[in-house]
Amino acid sequence: MLQFARRVGRAKPSAIMQVAENAKRLKAEGRDIISFSIGVPNFLPGEHVYAAARDALAHDSGQYGSNRGSDALLDAFLAHIAQVGLSGYTRANCATGIGAKHVLYNLAEALLEEGDTIAFPVPYWTSYLDIAEILGANVELLPCPASQDYKLTPAQLDAALAKKPRVFLFNNPSNPTGMVYSKAEISALADVIARHPDTWVITDDIYNRMVFDGVGYHNFVHARPGLRERVIFVDSLSKTYGMPGWRVGFMAGPESVAKAVVTLNSNHITNLPEITTAAAVAALSGPQDVPQARCAEFQARRDQVVAAFAAIPGVVCPRPQGAFYVFPDVSVAFGKTHAPSGTRIGNDVELCNALLETKGVACVPGSAFGEPRALRISYTCPAPQLAPGLQRIREFFAELS
Ligand code: PMP
Repeated sequence: MLQFARRVGRAKPSAIMQVAENAKRLKAEGRDIISFSIGVPNFLPGEHVYAAARDALAHDSGQYGSNRGSDALLDAFLAHIAQVGLSGYTRANCATGIGAKHVLYNLAEALLEEGDTIAFPVPYWTSYLDIAEILGANVELLPCPASQDYKLTPAQLDAALAKKPRVFLFNNPSNPTGMVYSKAEISALADVIARHPDTWVITDDIYNRMVFDGVGYHNFVHARPGLRERVIFVDSLSKTYGMPGWRVGFMAGPESVAKAVVTLNSNHITNLPEITTAAAVAALSGPQDVPQARCAEFQARRDQVVAAFAAIPGVVCPRPQGAFYVFPDVSVAFGKTHAPSGTRIGNDVELCNALLETKGVACVPGSAFGEPRALRISYTCPAPQLAPGLQRIREFFAELS
């Protein structure tokens, strides 16, 4: 009998995409659906990005390019990260990939042998688990429930790093929680990391431009510059510039790590396309008014979503300070029945299904992120849908008994 490699069986299809597919199906059936499910920005990059892509198309060489990324792209990325205080890196510290997801996959391939441990906080972005499982790595999950604002404590990190995992993977601002670590919190975690020299640290910080309330973005290398010897910063154009489909991601870190990623690129993809590269350079070095305006808009939407959940008795909703997600703990609903439909709500998946079927609102069950007490709201829907969507959720909870 013909066999698949075992790693294929370990990879699961994305739970987020499944919710999005269900919502799409109901919409096609004529239902009025409001989607809070998929984490895509609701804006396009500025006209200068399209102009650069058109110009590149007119002058495209059609040749293979650099495995690392073009010099112009690397320089634009270096200038971009210097704006958030990540300076002192050179092109040799950087590599590019087909989105941050691909960069993360390359990093995991470069740093983890089968059976090595990668540790990361829960809730986590879904692909972390899948990437580790495809590669046959052991996963050490560090639970961070709503009662601790979904944030990792220095004591938890200390205990985890004492076991010498090969990689510690950190995500700030967080998908799915939207939580942002303060300067003091990052500094305390950086002190712990400094005491444990046997672990690589990946900071997946692709939402670093989407930070609210003036808290700012902080990285371990800001707190402890010496950590740049083993901290790898990951960034992407997807969320910041409204360019998820263009597929451009980056890393900045030790030269040895960048070199390993470049070698993997030379075998996996060869190079980013020339047209994409031109668009990416334009996004990084052109006017920044689109991302700035959107960040202000997301902050206002955050307030609206948090206020809606705060008004539901028993729901615990930590207040995010970044990205475009809210992650309320809705476990108060479990064991109850939605009276009008007679649906019993046993867990997060049943809650999301009932919300979709009865109110036409799509959310992602928290179990997709390792936290089955919660659900994730992505609030990038068209503006007129936000208030009605939240109103439907409030009604749903009021109808539980
Ligand atoms: N990391 C996190 C935390 C994300 O939320 C996402 C996208 N949802 C990615 C990485 C992947 O981003 P990209 O589109 O650049 O592959």
